[in-house]
Amino acid sequence: MNNAQEELLIILMEECAEVAQECSKILRFGNDHDKLEKELGDLQCIIDMMHHRDMVSFNNIFDAADAKYHKLKDFSTHLFPNSNEE
Ligand SMILES: [Mg+2]
Repeated sequence: MNNAQEELLIILMEECAEVAQECSKILRFGNDHDKLEKELGDLQCIIDMMHHRDMVSFNNIFDAADAKYHKLKDFSTHLFPNSNEE
């Protein structure tokens, strides 16, 4: 692993933590979503840079996102209240 890849992993960890922090602040203090969007943008930037350096694949990420969506559809009654109705 080279220095750039190592730095991207470190920043990825930091940005994930900042996204989690903004989620917590919305729940605790009712903050607006501007800061969350800013941190999600930061996170997206790092994902894009990791893709550019072949550390991750967008195709694999999209496949994982699709699988997650279907998993949530199976068990989340809040997100998909009518999905189990016949
Ligand atoms: Mg950030």
